[in-house]
Amino acid sequence: MQLFEQAAAFSEVGAGLQLGPNATRILQAWGLGPALDAVAAFPERIVARSSTSGRELAGLPLGQQAVQRYGAPYATAHRRDLHAILLQAVQAQTGAQLHLGSAVAGFQESVQAVQLQLTDGRQAQGDALIGADGLWSRVREQALADGRAQPTGHLAYRALIARADLPAALRANEVSVWFGVRQHVVAYPVRGGQWLNLVVIVQGAASQELPGWDDVGAAADVRQALANCCSTLQALAEAAPSWGRWSLYDRAPLSSAAQMAGGRIALLGDAAHPMRPFLAQGAAMALEDAAELGAALAALGASQADIPAALAHYAGQRWQRAARVQARSRRNGQIFHLAGPLQWARNAALGLLGHKLMDLPWLYGYRGTL
Ligand SMILES: Cc1cc2nc3c(=O)[nH]c(=O)nc-3n(C[C@H](O)[C@H](O)[C@H](O)COP(=O)(O)OP(=O)(O)OC[C@H]3O[C@@H](n4cnc5c(N)ncnc54)[C@H](O)[C@@H]3O)c2cc1C
Repeated sequence: MQLFEQAAAFSEVGAGLQLGPNATRILQAWGLGPALDAVAAFPERIVARSSTSGRELAGLPLGQQAVQRYGAPYATAHRRDLHAILLQAVQAQTGAQLHLGSAVAGFQESVQAVQLQLTDGRQAQGDALIGADGLWSRVREQALADGRAQPTGHLAYRALIARADLPAALRANEVSVWFGVRQHVVAYPVRGGQWLNLVVIVQGAASQELPGWDDVGAAADVRQALANCCSTLQALAEAAPSWGRWSLYDRAPLSSAAQMAGGRIALLGDAAHPMRPFLAQGAAMALEDAAELGAALAALGASQADIPAALAHYAGQRWQRAARVQARSRRNGQIFHLAGPLQWARNAALGLLGHKLMDLPWLYGYRGTL
């Protein structure tokens, strides 16, 4: 197996990831549970609050209860830590070769093989090509030619705060979500609980590509977005030493298996199904894809006889679930940002049904081939 990565070195800055039991179960099955335990945090609950009053609307117990319900924990981790765990696992496999500084320009597919062209003129040949090249996938562009991902009209502001610097009231071991009008805020511990990952999502902002960190204008934007929020939330935002700012993009939910695989080409993760982060499942879906793809290829045995059929099987197993998660992520964004009477209805429903609305057995209980 050969992996081609455009970056000369891996250096993703400051973002956290929630990893539901559907994702941690896969890491455990790959023997990476102990490595995750060493770097992740394991929140005791998810709590939904009003961002104006700070009032708790509903909570879902996690911790041991998540393990009992789903057989695997609900974890929160720094993206860089998860990446390091996966990279080490790849490097430990004798059959895997990692090529950094190798940007894919395109490919040519024949009945027997796929030829890959890199932007620097190098070429490589293989039995199949898996495009796991993210939101702006070059492989997807050539394979499907279905246009670019579209801006969702949201900006995400992200910060990391040393938890030791926060007052005790803001150091709870939980995933906190504050619902506001046209904005919401999510906070959870990462790096073994030493840091708090804080994300402010704001709707209606100008949609342009704004990747970056240490963005001076971002702190003022966040202050403005949280102007009508409770003092707790404002204090939390003020504690952030710096902010990164990203525009969000997605695609419509998948509508067929053919969008994930055809012939000797398959897509995986954001390349196949970029989604809004409102269900915190993008990376988890990439892990589920990888587990399913691994199983489909392993079932071929040594002969590697029918790779297109194995890729088609993978796509058939995956596309409907990924589409459901994409659609649910979109819906969550609307529910989180409701205004007026609908906001009161949402809060009343949360108050009445509490964790029944927040627990998602179809999502967290998924086992796929595991
Ligand atoms: C604000 C926010 C919060 C999020 N929170 C969560 C969360 O809590 N939980 C969760 O599960 N997900 C979350 N996500 C989603 C998650 O970050 C993505 O879904 C996930 O990173 C997708 O992984 P991927 O490997 O498919 O793509 P990427 O992580 O984008 O990786 C693609 C890789 O391909 C490389 N590449 C790109 N083009 C080329 C090329 N031409 N040649 C060679 N290499 C190339 C890139 O350099 C990169 O290394 C969040 C996203 C956002 C924006």
